[in-house]
Amino acid sequence: MRLSQFHLHTSKETPADAELVSHKLMLKAGMIRKLAAGLYTWSPLGLRVLRKVERVVREEMDASGAVELLMPSVQPRELWEETGRWEKFGGQLLKMKDRKDAWYCYGPTHEEVITDFARDELASYKQLPVTFYQIQTKFRDEIRPRFGVMRAREFLMKDAYSFHVTDEDLGREYLNMFNAYCRIFSRLGLEYRAVFADTGSIGGSASHEFHVLAESGEDAIAYSTDSDYAANVELAEALPEGERHAAEESLREVETPVQKTCEAVAELMGIGLERTVKSIALMGANADGETEFVLALVRGDHVLNEIKLAKLPGLGEYRMATEAEILAHLGSEPGFLGPVSPRQPVRVVADRSVAALADFVVGANRAGFHLAGVNWGRDLPEPETVADIRNVVVGDRSPDRHGTLGICRGIEVGHVFQLGRKYAEAMKCTVLDETGKAVVPAMGCYGIGVSRIVAAAIEQNFDANGIRWPESMAPWRAVVCMINPKKDPAVTEAAEALYRELNEAGVETALDDRGLRPGAMFADIELIGIPHRIVVSERGLAAGTYEYRARTEPESENLDTAGLKARLG
Ligand code: ATP
Ligand code: MG
Ligand code: MG
Ligand code: MG
Repeated sequence: MRLSQFHLHTSKETPADAELVSHKLMLKAGMIRKLAAGLYTWSPLGLRVLRKVERVVREEMDASGAVELLMPSVQPRELWEETGRWEKFGGQLLKMKDRKDAWYCYGPTHEEVITDFARDELASYKQLPVTFYQIQTKFRDEIRPRFGVMRAREFLMKDAYSFHVTDEDLGREYLNMFNAYCRIFSRLGLEYRAVFADTGSIGGSASHEFHVLAESGEDAIAYSTDSDYAANVELAEALPEGERHAAEESLREVETPVQKTCEAVAELMGIGLERTVKSIALMGANADGETEFVLALVRGDHVLNEIKLAKLPGLGEYRMATEAEILAHLGSEPGFLGPVSPRQPVRVVADRSVAALADFVVGANRAGFHLAGVNWGRDLPEPETVADIRNVVVGDRSPDRHGTLGICRGIEVGHVFQLGRKYAEAMKCTVLDETGKAVVPAMGCYGIGVSRIVAAAIEQNFDANGIRWPESMAPWRAVVCMINPKKDPAVTEAAEALYRELNEAGVETALDDRGLRPGAMFADIELIGIPHRIVVSERGLAAGTYEYRARTEPESENLDTAGLKARLG
């Protein structure tokens, strides 16, 4: 590509309304232009990067055995009525009417459409297992679209859906997809972590998120320093807008998760782990200045059921509900345990026993923490914020009891779910099994935020001069810059020849033939983050060398053609 014939439109101004580095740099580099809130045009430059990400995702999905298809963005209301999500999905669902007054939505995700496809197309176990995927535009009417393409309303997602006769086979494919995701994020050159996640409004049993690690990430991740344990400490999306914002602000201050407090106190009390309680939260409600605790059954963002802690003389003002009372409400859902306040909701995944939970509150009170009184522990203020609770931390063991617990921030770039039979059941999708009996297939779904990855990658790869693309994502791997081409035709000739030669050798190379002065030209090339810069000048030609500089290196070096090719691999 000759840059004189390309639309490169960089800017020196730092955009005032952009908070994140990635947002600022994408605007300055001219990769995106805002059309309206959460709606962006990808310029030719931005699109080159987006396509690179898409290519890696597509190659690895194909290699994993998934098959590509393409579903419509616009989806009929009737499908969403079948699963009950026309109402349940909430404000993120953009609804619209056609000329015949029929309702549609712009797809925020495609479980309904793929299940509709499957019930028509899949008849027999012989067609299973199968994983379909697409790379397609989604729309979610986010409450607060922000950070450019990081949290947009219209964005590009790779979404995949798998169908299985047995749960075991779903588990196998889940692992297959998990591994494909690891290969994708490694190939893209990102520092990432796979973390346990809750299953949110989609429902289902097992779920992992993939996070690109970055200080600016919206999610907090608790992880063990010595094992693979990692969990998302996510905010309750169900919160009203104003409160959610306040909660996010306060969560940003959290250095040690509430889980540490539980662990530490449990440790202090020598509590054993017996039967596993799942989907339970200890909730500190703070209404009218009174601290009151409830046990709550939580699934995803929703409190399904709660038990007030009854008052009992002799144990502060409250007593724990009995184990039988709690068990009656529990069932065997996977889930969460951690002190949670409706104002500052923090959930941490952990397996706990009922007895341990009861002992925890009782023991904590005996140890002077007064979980249920108005005196929140020794000389400490009321636990109004997560930061207050942090103050009672006395240890930092990881919930899996390997290593210590650290906390970092991440950007969710991928998410894998075992959906189970929820959608197939609701939409009456069946296949015939080996015995000729109609069975409901188990489903998995697997998403990657293709456009978000572009921004997330910049959060990990930049310096004062601009973007530093990982090779796999760069708009071009190399650029040949001409110094004073008008003055010296030999420079033009040599640069053109090198540009052709590199491209023929498979090194995707641009030619900066815009005729800019060196300073302005180099500033642009650094801003847009090309990994390898090669300068052709009169002086270099006389010495038989090119001036080469890697975007990540502070100095340039003079190399002959052979040396250059060695650098560019
Ligand atoms: P988030 O927690 O950031 O709102 P999500 O959990 O709602 O994301 P999923 O339903 O898991 O998103 O969708 C799969 C992927 O799509 C996410 O992992 C993320 O990378 C991407 N994604 C989701 N919402 C957006 C958005 N508003 N803008 C850009 N990418 C998004
Ligand atoms: Mg979301
Ligand atoms: Mg999420
Ligand atoms: Mg998600």
